[in-house]
Parts: sequence; C-alpha cells; structure tokens
Amino acid sequence: MSILIKGATLPDGTTSDVLVHDGTVAELGAISTKADRTIDADGLRLLPGLVDLHTHLREPGREDAETVLTGSRAAAVGGYTAVLAMANTHPVTDTAEAAERVLDLGRTAGLVDVQPVGAVTKGLAGEELAELGLMARSRAKVRVFSDDGKCVHDPRVMRRALEYVKAFGGVISQHSQDPSLAGPTACCHEGELSGRLGLPGWPGVAEEVIVARDVMLARHTGSRVHVAHVSTAGSVEVVRWAKSQGIDVTAEVTPHHLLLTTDLLTGYDPTYKVNPPLRPDEDVRALREALADGTIDAVATDHAPHARHDKEHAFVDAAFGMLGLETALPVVTTVMVESGLLDWAGVARVMSANPARIAGLDAEHGRPIAVGEPANLTLVDPTTKVVVDRAASVSLSRNNPWHDRKLTGRVVATLLRGTPTVLEGELA
Ligand SMILES: [Zn+2]
Repeated sequence: MSILIKGATLPDGTTSDVLVHDGTVAELGAISTKADRTIDADGLRLLPGLVDLHTHLREPGREDAETVLTGSRAAAVGGYTAVLAMANTHPVTDTAEAAERVLDLGRTAGLVDVQPVGAVTKGLAGEELAELGLMARSRAKVRVFSDDGKCVHDPRVMRRALEYVKAFGGVISQHSQDPSLAGPTACCHEGELSGRLGLPGWPGVAEEVIVARDVMLARHTGSRVHVAHVSTAGSVEVVRWAKSQGIDVTAEVTPHHLLLTTDLLTGYDPTYKVNPPLRPDEDVRALREALADGTIDAVATDHAPHARHDKEHAFVDAAFGMLGLETALPVVTTVMVESGLLDWAGVARVMSANPARIAGLDAEHGRPIAVGEPANLTLVDPTTKVVVDRAASVSLSRNNPWHDRKLTGRVVATLLRGTPTVLEGELA
C-alpha cells in the first residue's frame, strides 16, 4: 500500500510531501506520483512515531482495567508507534515466557509495537534477581528492566542488577522512592497542604536519595540507569550533576508532572492520586526547564488505567495512577511548545528519538524522516484546541485527570510501518 502525505511540515520546519510505500519512506520533496491514499497535511506537523517508555497495560491479570489491545488503541490514538509495557502485571513479567506472551499479545493487537519491560527481581519482591539474561535472549529481546510500582530498594540488589544488564547493553529503569521515607499509607506530596488536608504524605527527598544513590551505583558499575518519572527539583539537580560527571544516566518526566500541581488535591478527588505524587509549582517549573535543556531526556506517560472500583474510594484508599497515552502530545504541546520552551524538533527528540534510543528500539523507531527509513509516523495538528472528554477515550478505564481541560494539539494520523492505525483522529 502507498500513502502520499501532502505538504507536511517536518520537525525541522521544512515543508515536504512524503510518499510512504511498502512500510518505508520512499520519497520526499514535491511528489506528483499517485498513491492508494492521499492525506492532506497542510498546516500539520509530521513527527517520527512517538515512543512511550512507561505504559501499564494491565494484561495479564487486570483485564478489567486495560488489555494489551485496548492499551494499544489508546497508544495509537495518542500518536504512539511503540510502547514499553511495564512488568507489574499478574503474574509479573519476570520470565522469558511471560515477556514473550506480552510481545505476542502486542503483535496480535497489531496497532503499536509492544515491547515488554522485564522485572528486575522475582515477583517484584526486591530480593532475588529475575531471569534477566533469559529475558534478554528471548524472542522479546528485553533491554529495559524495572520493578516499577516498587523501588529496587536494597543497594546490593540494585548493584548486581546494574552489573548484570551491562553485559548486554540493558538498562535498569528505577521507580525512585525510598519506602522507609514513604510510610505505608502515604498518598500525596508531604508539605504544608498535606498537613492542612490531613492526608499522610511523603517528601520529595524520598525520591532524591534513591536517584542520588543510583547514579553513584551507575558510576561504580559503569552501567546505565534510567530514572523513571522524575518529579522533584532536587532529583533534577542530581541528574544534572551526574550527567556533568559523565555518568550514564537518563531520565523521564510524565505529562502530569509537567502541568498538574498538588493544589488539585484540595477536592480529595482520587483521580489526582498518583505515584510519584503531584508536586508544588517550583518542582513543576524545574521539570519543564530540565526537559527543555536536555537534563530530562524523555516524556513518558506512566499510563496507569484503573477500574472504577479501585479508584472510587476515599483518597487514602484509592489506587495510584492516571491515564496518559491519549493526551500526552496535547499536554506537551500546551506546556512546552506554546510556551516556547521546546520547538517541534525538540518534541520529536523527547517523545520519539530519545525514548527509542533509551529502550534500544532505535533501529525501527525514533528515526529521522528520511528516504529508506521505516514509516513509523505521527501527523499532528499543532494549533487545534480540544476539550478532553473522558467518555471519548478508547482506554478501558476512565481515570483521566485531563477531563474537561482545554489542550492544544491533536493527533490526526498514526502510521505503523506504513499502515495507518489512526486516520482523521480516529482508529483506522
Ligand atoms: Zn513508577
């Protein structure tokens, strides 16, 4: 099948027609060749397909919240062509067989490349390393390992994991949070507001001490660590210092930590309960600057669907997490592009090229838009404003913190290896 994208603006600001044929970018420039389908891209931005380093697809185990198929739909609608599926499913993705099962579910859904993340420790228990080597050598070719949801707390276990994955170019993605500084009922950012609301919180330093420890372990082992969902100005400072020392560290920030602040908790709405928690304004500002200056490498959604009966509770008892795949691009457009902090080349870098490289998917994803490259592409309307409606989501869950907000930017089309998964903003 051939598709002609007419008059698209590329990330570098130049305008070009793009002919997609047999899954690759076949031609650029002014093209008069007839194609099976023509997409008018006048005024639209063409980006390399987005890559999400941090998605919770909930299958196996919680198919009432999301499945690989429904999560893949949300990803495609959000402009993604690849997502990394976190390991905290039931059972946990801690064996080669479990990783291959997730890979196969993704292929069956066929809307986005679903790349399994392997657990660092068996059952996410934090004690015994999982089958890291077997997962890496499996058909799933696992490269990113994470106990996400939980922190790899024992420094001896973290050290061994870093040493182990170094051999095959793997990376440990850490949910940085010292559990002994975050009590068992902690549910929000610890500060003046949590005191006033009577909610048990945990402080930013619970994240920062683990980030600091891990970059030192990465230096010691000569291995690579990735900091998942950085949420505080202090963590940003540590990552900035570590990079200045040549330590092999990368970091991601979520869309919600770029825009939403802890003040939203005054209504006790569990939609805003998330881990790491929403932080004060000064942290949000530091995260935006760090994403703009390259200290933070990537935007990652931490898409965390939850069934209604897990979220509709008193704030302290509700599950942590919020949806993110369908709204990430509009949030980044609103927060980073409209403010002038990032241009579209920057968006392509933090939402596609960098995450693809961090995940080891950069042979297929996050590629420059050039002849011969795989046609994993996202077409974006950069100026349309849309009011988010949680009922319009293709995710199985409805824990959408963006409901009723007006955001700029809309994904018009997504192509996975030249095949449209989304056209005119809807599943193709
Ligand atoms: Zn996490």
